[in-house]
Amino acid sequence: MPERFDAIVIGAGPSGNAAAYTLAKAGRKVLQIERGETPGSKNVQGAILYADMLEKIIPDFREDAPLERHIIEQRMWLLDDDSHVSMNYRSEKFNQQPGNRYTIIRAQFDKWFSEKVIEAGALVINETTVTNLLMDGHRVVGVATDRVGGEVYADVVILADGVNSMLARKAGFRAEIKPEHVALAVKEIHFMPQELIEQRFNITGDAGVVIEMVGKITKGMMGTAFLYTNKESITFGIGCMLSDFKQQDVTPYQLLDDMRAHPSIAPLLEGGEMKEYAAHLIPEGGFDAMPKLYGDGWVIVGDSGGMVNAVHREGSNLAMTSGRLAAETIAALAAEGKDFTAKNLARYQKALEESFVLKDLKKYRDMPPIFHKNPHFFSSYPELINRAAHEMLVVDGVDKKSKEKAIKREFRTKRGLFGMVSDAFKVWRAFE
Ligand SMILES: Cc1cc2nc3c(=O)[nH]c(=O)nc-3n(C[C@H](O)[C@H](O)[C@H](O)COP(=O)(O)OP(=O)(O)OC[C@H]3O[C@@H](n4cnc5c(N)ncnc54)[C@H](O)[C@@H]3O)c2cc1C
Repeated sequence: MPERFDAIVIGAGPSGNAAAYTLAKAGRKVLQIERGETPGSKNVQGAILYADMLEKIIPDFREDAPLERHIIEQRMWLLDDDSHVSMNYRSEKFNQQPGNRYTIIRAQFDKWFSEKVIEAGALVINETTVTNLLMDGHRVVGVATDRVGGEVYADVVILADGVNSMLARKAGFRAEIKPEHVALAVKEIHFMPQELIEQRFNITGDAGVVIEMVGKITKGMMGTAFLYTNKESITFGIGCMLSDFKQQDVTPYQLLDDMRAHPSIAPLLEGGEMKEYAAHLIPEGGFDAMPKLYGDGWVIVGDSGGMVNAVHREGSNLAMTSGRLAAETIAALAAEGKDFTAKNLARYQKALEESFVLKDLKKYRDMPPIFHKNPHFFSSYPELINRAAHEMLVVDGVDKKSKEKAIKREFRTKRGLFGMVSDAFKVWRAFE
């Protein structure tokens, strides 16, 4: 690889593909390096694809992208040990084209996206790991890879290497990730006939349902679980903060085992054949845990920059948008004949600030520490709400006033009046 490139993109996940595609389309000479056998082979996601952000990169993506189902119904479950309280939103509007959210299988989706990057003119090299950033003083001038003689040079390097971003840490661009800033998620894919999925979830055609869950299944740890319908499979998984796993004597796989056996979930999976199991980290530290995103000759995009909105379970859309904005900034600077100093690349930060990416991350910046310090949000409240529902729905000769009193007593005993007021304030602050 003796040539010099206008830009090198490290990683072929959503952020790297968005960046490489946008730059190649703008006529830049791009090299993209991915350590996986094929793009997507190392990637794990639920996964929901948010169409708007991909549409801004590839407007006609629906024509050939491997989409599973367009989502018409969102269920939110608060789980107790053997029950759940549910809130659903289903709308016929979500059946109208163009769809807004789709379930996808990441291995297929990343492969498709990578083909688009190649068609756009970038050189994509798989099965190659970037081992170091090449520096000239403070400036990044290229990358070293694990190939013999594998040093490549470029005017600018885009780090799209995901949550661990060993390269950014090695170069001193970011600190070690703290266990309380990262969730460990595990997921499985269960295959079953399409008709069975449609019957079980009350859907037809390409329509799909997603279920987001919180409650006793995370065993008091800060975390959530999910279940998504694909065409002929169901993806489900669970994730909790790494710091909580360290303190609890429980493995992620045990959580999945318990989830699979939960009486609200087991019937949805019955008859399925589990074919895929994967674990991955998610950067959930929010705005205050983000590193600096640009410097002389480099920018950071996607998970590598901690851009995940854990409240809304959005990551790939922030990744694609940051990749696109970084690429647009670089292409614009090149067109103006400017170089890639930190001063000039600061435009990328500005573009992020003007987009939903940093607006949303700033909005929820207090959320991670508040929920981390108050694990009862993930255990006590789901339990109390389930018990209250049970109490009110059991018809046993006890009058409703007495039932209400019993429910209030239980809330007070578990959280206390002051505790509940303070919790309400914390939630308001977190979401404000
Ligand atoms: C279980 C789970 C469920 C999720 N569900 C959703 C969801 O439903 N919706 C959503 O929007 N987001 C979801 N996310 C988050 C989403 O997956 C990420 O935000 C998104 O993948 C980030 O994209 P990225 O390109 O920045 O990083 P990644 O997708 O992690 O891609 C990084 C790429 O870089 C490569 N790489 C790393 N180091 C090197 C190196 N040194 N040299 C060469 N290549 C390298 C990796 O192999 C990988 O291909 C989920 C995450 C998990 C773990």
